[in-house]
Amino acid sequence: MIRFDAVTKTYPDGTVAVNALTLEAATGETTVLVGPSGCGKTTSLRMVNRMVEPTSGQVWLDGRDIATIAPHELRRGIGYVIQQAGLFPHRTVLDNIATVPVLTGCSRRQARTRAAELLDLVGLSSDLAGRYPNQLSGGQQQRVGVARALAADPPVMLMDEPFSALDPVVREQLQNEFLRLQHDLGKTIVFVTHDIDEAIKLGDKVAILDSGGTLVQAGSPAELLSRPGTPFVASFLGRDRGYRALTFAQAGSLPLSDETPVRLGDPLVLASDRQTDGWVLVLDDQEVPQGWLATATLSDRQDVGTVTADLLHLGGTLATAHGTLREALDAALSSPSGRGVVVNENGRLAGTVTASHVLALVEKRAARLRAAELQPAVAGLTAPKAQP
Ligand code: ADP
Repeated sequence: MIRFDAVTKTYPDGTVAVNALTLEAATGETTVLVGPSGCGKTTSLRMVNRMVEPTSGQVWLDGRDIATIAPHELRRGIGYVIQQAGLFPHRTVLDNIATVPVLTGCSRRQARTRAAELLDLVGLSSDLAGRYPNQLSGGQQQRVGVARALAADPPVMLMDEPFSALDPVVREQLQNEFLRLQHDLGKTIVFVTHDIDEAIKLGDKVAILDSGGTLVQAGSPAELLSRPGTPFVASFLGRDRGYRALTFAQAGSLPLSDETPVRLGDPLVLASDRQTDGWVLVLDDQEVPQGWLATATLSDRQDVGTVTADLLHLGGTLATAHGTLREALDAALSSPSGRGVVVNENGRLAGTVTASHVLALVEKRAARLRAAELQPAVAGLTAPKAQP
């Protein structure tokens, strides 16, 4: 665990970059520092590997005050990834990644073998091993940067706006890869970004800083979205906050309706018989949903034809039975029939759900939350402390 304990950094010109920061970053989790430019995120991050020394307060790593650990020893256990990757321009991709293992005593051969594994781990083709950084795209450079930081297998990773310079599509790809990698590796990560959506997506814990280097609120994404502690946090989290909170609400007990589906290859006339509201769900022979059939448009073919893939309306996202309310709502809203398709883990049909059913559940949960928030105040009024 990393712990900031009343850490303040005042630069020689008097700028207070970080102001009495107290914050814990749990082992094996991603803690994201987020806030507007100049609020002290990078300064905080660099105090963890002693690139910046605090003016007062301590940073602890697994119970040791890092001021007592020599910087080179400390940094051996800490990977560091920055924007624009910071690669050595005159070294090949493979040698960039192998640099750290060589420094820590691996033979060149071992280091290169490890580097090749890492290249694969971050999703890069081995064809790129011999290229130089300027022969790579921005996204590829950033992947090499991550591979290099992972090379010594450090338990801690510091990541400073690693994806900020990339275009939105590549950025999203790298964020998804990040989540996959972190799921497998379980590093203790402190991640800096100015992008609240990135913070909410990647963080197990998100710490929101405001200018002057003050921590305003820290908590899980779900906590922040459902209970922002100050107007600043609420406005920083932005619009759609209530809707985005659904991303973290497990659908759990969704009221699923049964369908009377048909299968690919069934006679069309059967589909017309099954018609309830003009839409019939079509499955393959493994019970996996394939799309919707609009029975009203089949009148001239239904006596002879069979259900084929080219007749289906696709569109419509699938929700999973153990997914989130947002997924379920999206499935319902994007379905041509208005009935969102919910599947089990194995991809087979579990049932369907309408937007109004999902919203009723959302409303019920919100009412319960409001009631829970009122309770202490009510209890305080009606149940005064017993006199001693
Ligand atoms: P962020 O990462 O949130 O953008 P920084 O930690 O980089 O914020 O900077 C916090 C504040 O400290 C800013 O006002 C910045 O100008 C100032 N600052 C950063 N580095 C230095 C420095 N070396 N000397 C003086 N002021 C600095």
